[in-house]
Amino acid sequence: MLAPGSTIGILGGGQLGRMMAVAALQLGYKVVGFAPEGDNVAADACTAFITADWDDAAALARFAAACDVVTWEFENVPLGTVAAIPDALLPCPPRALQVAQDRLSEKAFAASLGGVPAPYSAVSSEADFAAALASVGTPGILKTARDGYDGKGQWRVRSVLEAGGIAFPGVTCIYEGFVMYETEFSVILVRGQDGTVKFWDSTANLHEGGMLSLSVLPAGAMVEAQVPAARQLAAKVADALGYVGVLTLEFFATREGPVFNEMAPRVHNSGHWTIEGAATSQFENHIRAICGLPLGGTKTRFASIEMRNIVGDDALRAHAILAEPGEPHLHLYGKAEAREGRKMGHVTRVGHALK
Ligand code: AMP
Repeated sequence: MLAPGSTIGILGGGQLGRMMAVAALQLGYKVVGFAPEGDNVAADACTAFITADWDDAAALARFAAACDVVTWEFENVPLGTVAAIPDALLPCPPRALQVAQDRLSEKAFAASLGGVPAPYSAVSSEADFAAALASVGTPGILKTARDGYDGKGQWRVRSVLEAGGIAFPGVTCIYEGFVMYETEFSVILVRGQDGTVKFWDSTANLHEGGMLSLSVLPAGAMVEAQVPAARQLAAKVADALGYVGVLTLEFFATREGPVFNEMAPRVHNSGHWTIEGAATSQFENHIRAICGLPLGGTKTRFASIEMRNIVGDDALRAHAILAEPGEPHLHLYGKAEAREGRKMGHVTRVGHALK
């Protein structure tokens, strides 16, 4: 167990790191962040923050020397950066990042453990794209295999005719069949250093333009029926990786059962409701797990919960939410620029308390 006053290092400087740092401070730890130049809103909650490029060896050495344990809040931290951190500081194997950084490898990994992804095909050239359209069919989605997030690096293909207007982007892609789903949902678990796994309830997730906009509980009968199979896969993924901390898997609920979409080896936007809505939040349990502390309960505390993202310049008017009935819980991330499509905060509303 990491002693109080020890230092947790967080790779990445976004809102997930910020909320993780708040949880770490609450448990008596110090936090050092590390990220390249940018709007590093985690820095506000860190004891110290190193702004340097991912491949700055001297800065990484300084970071590692300051930390007793290191985690990440961003799954695209380059593997070379993580390789510069001594293994003894990493409770979670970097292989989790490696698998999740590539849509092809995460789908193959999940499938090897019994998960069912949408039909897909790797696309590394125009000819591959044509072959993928023929084998997978339309409608579908072409996605860059790496570095995409919040719907970026994705092109919907409604028909072969429409595909003619989409130029192969020149980087390895995946072409996936479009899944006719009823709802999307996520499984969020925490795995401790002793292999104990706990799950939070699964929310139904609504995306707009490829980005999460709303997570709700209860998630509905279809999701609830598919959660056991989805949890089974998530636990297998966590065990196979020797994972430590919070892990998220996203699914489509279809009439044929849960279809695996992607995994995030980190805390997740669809788990923000756990701050007020669960016995222990995803952020606190992640910190507990990486520090070797006993994990907290994950039970939902309210009969209904809704978490809505605050995007773009809606953030400028967000304090008005506090005057609304029902005791909304507002979280603003302190980002400098309210750019369109940028996650600026979230609001959680809860129903009546469960006994
Ligand atoms: P992703 O970055 O893969 O999570 O995609 C972002 C969002 O786009 C998903 O949450 C879905 O709303 C939608 N989406 C992605 N892939 C598919 C698919 N194969 N079929 C239907 N919708 C998809």
